[in-house]
Amino acid sequence: MVSRTGSCRINLDYLLDRADRVTKLCPHWSELARQRMALCLDEEMVLGRSLWDFVQGGATQQLYDMLIQESRRTGRKLAFNYRGDSPGAIRYMRMTLLPGYQGMVRLRSELLHEQSRQRAVYFTHAAYPCRPELLQCGLCNRLEHNGRWYTLDDLLRLTDVIDDLMPTEVGDTVCDGCVTRIEIVTGVRL
Ligand SMILES: [Zn+2]
Repeated sequence: MVSRTGSCRINLDYLLDRADRVTKLCPHWSELARQRMALCLDEEMVLGRSLWDFVQGGATQQLYDMLIQESRRTGRKLAFNYRGDSPGAIRYMRMTLLPGYQGMVRLRSELLHEQSRQRAVYFTHAAYPCRPELLQCGLCNRLEHNGRWYTLDDLLRLTDVIDDLMPTEVGDTVCDGCVTRIEIVTGVRL
């Protein structure tokens, strides 16, 4: 098990302008973005682009959009925990939204705790999945299959829907439990 506690070394900070374009990144962005997202999101590929080019999924995108707009409108800092798992790791994360001057919002993604997974599982996220039998919550990373919600470990144990040969296609959603949880911790009506 790999366990880390929060420090500025492992926070990803970025600043949005009023049009949700990424205008500033923390100095260690490129290194952390590669580690955290397993993607080569180099600074020059991100700066000036819309946040919505990078946040996958309609439901998750909609929820983040509502929270960012609410933070701007009220001038309130908003924070909530979420799961940002990678194929080989369980990641407990915290997102903080800090509103600023002229519609700017600072987003901070903090890794609270990380635990390696014995069996790496790869997903592809499709806005309109060809086989929408699996939905994944963008906030808790649980998966819905045949009307039931599973943790990934339970899904692997109890079903055969995960294929080790190919990435498993999932549709994006936000589960009712996360909507309620985010409403409670942020005070925002979603
Ligand atoms: Zn959820």
